[in-house]
Amino acid sequence: MKEEELRENINCGLCNQPFAAAGLPIFHRVTIETYCLDVNAIKRQDGLAAIVGSSVIASVMGPNEDLAKELHEPLKITVCSTCSIEERHCIAQLSEIANRETEEEANESTKRR
Ligand SMILES: [Zn+2]
Repeated sequence: MKEEELRENINCGLCNQPFAAAGLPIFHRVTIETYCLDVNAIKRQDGLAAIVGSSVIASVMGPNEDLAKELHEPLKITVCSTCSIEERHCIAQLSEIANRETEEEANESTKRR
């Protein structure tokens, strides 16, 4: 990670403190990928399995289309070592924080132009 990227990720997304404030020179970059099932694709695959009589044969014969689709680009969030050892984190909260940070970065890069 180069200096500019490190500066952009200096604060923990959960406690909003610089990750080094935790006392360790270690931080985590958590990537969140969110998917939604494609019900129509699942129905098509299931229908083909019913016609050929086997889900294994249908998976080989079928178009091999995605049965779940990504809702948005993967989101990334910085987490300090203190926050990383907490037992409970809400994925929706992490996703919301990461989404906000992504939008702020996009706005800042637009301002620089
Ligand atoms: Zn933290």
